[in-house]
Amino acid sequence: MSKVALIRCINYEQDRVYGAVKRAVDLIGGIGEFVKPGMKILLKPNLLSARPPEEAVDTHPEVVRSVARLVKTQDAVPIIGDSPGGYGKNVDDVFEKSGMKRMAGEEGVELVKFTNSRFVDGIPISRYVFDADLMISIPKFKTHSITVLTAAVKNTFGTVTGLYKAECHSRAPKEQDFAKIIAKVHSISKPALTILDGIVAMEGDGPSATGILRNMNLIMASRDAVSIDSCIAKIMGLHPLDILVTREAYKMGLGEADLSRVETVGDGIETFIAKDFKLPQTTPLKLLPRVIANSIANFIKFKPVIDKGLCTNCKLCKVSCPVDAITSDEDYCKINYTTCVSCMCCHEVCPYKAIHIKRNILTKMVWG
Ligand code: SF4
Ligand code: SF4
Repeated sequence: MSKVALIRCINYEQDRVYGAVKRAVDLIGGIGEFVKPGMKILLKPNLLSARPPEEAVDTHPEVVRSVARLVKTQDAVPIIGDSPGGYGKNVDDVFEKSGMKRMAGEEGVELVKFTNSRFVDGIPISRYVFDADLMISIPKFKTHSITVLTAAVKNTFGTVTGLYKAECHSRAPKEQDFAKIIAKVHSISKPALTILDGIVAMEGDGPSATGILRNMNLIMASRDAVSIDSCIAKIMGLHPLDILVTREAYKMGLGEADLSRVETVGDGIETFIAKDFKLPQTTPLKLLPRVIANSIANFIKFKPVIDKGLCTNCKLCKVSCPVDAITSDEDYCKINYTTCVSCMCCHEVCPYKAIHIKRNILTKMVWG
């Protein structure tokens, strides 16, 4: 039986967030159950893109601050680290604009880039994961155009360093295979504790700036990341196993996706269920039975389209493309659709809302 705490928290006011985070962790045993004096604790937020906290693209710095303070109550040493999208090209910018650098400075907490790695089963994982006594994952609740949801399990995929993350899309173009890789990484970088920022979540075409903000007023905590994602699926109006990453992680025995075996504590999960939660426009195909989805997949197309009016020619999409389908001239980037594999990495990393997902006519006819 897994236990998940769900706590209502209506905004990012410092004391309010700390109170909610502490209450959530207390309900699953208290921070002393996890963190002991003298330990080095890696805090792993979701830092995707160089956007300000109010855009909800990254884990909010006040949630990370609260976790850092909670760790310090045990005379342990927190450090904060991640490897944002864009493969190191813009990591300083992400730390700065997300508010993480300022907050870390105020709290006297070291903020580190995931660069050096240790290979496990051929996957490069940040050394900080192994150097720390344990990791606390601090994900954000967002929709995702490829994986439907990015939350607890997918956040640990961010412990992978360098270009490998992008290469996974070309190594595993099928979504199920990609989900298996994410679950595999979770098995390697499994956090001892997950504390989720769902105060302002994202619906629609997440996980980047083109998603739609939605106040969910939610902080969650659990030892079991899979059970957190399963509860979120219910909140979104889905079955936990509709999310391929959850399904693969559950199949690998990494956590509980059977909600009858998940004990929820705190403020009732029913009170968080979101009516009319907007899924990514790529989602309906993913929810169809596999045999039907496969038979119509060739006719259902999504493609990224660059809005020249918004493109700043920062080239982040270009360096993130796993198949080199993006070229640039003096003015803006262009996509070669013959090479593009529709992985949507470019849509994910663009910090300027300049990449939209376009559906073909058949897709519009089927889903409106
Ligand atoms: S579309 Fe333009 S603004 Fe967006 S990541 Fe690519 S180059 Fe940068
Ligand atoms: S252009 Fe964008 S969607 Fe197409 S393969 Fe490259 S990163 Fe993926």
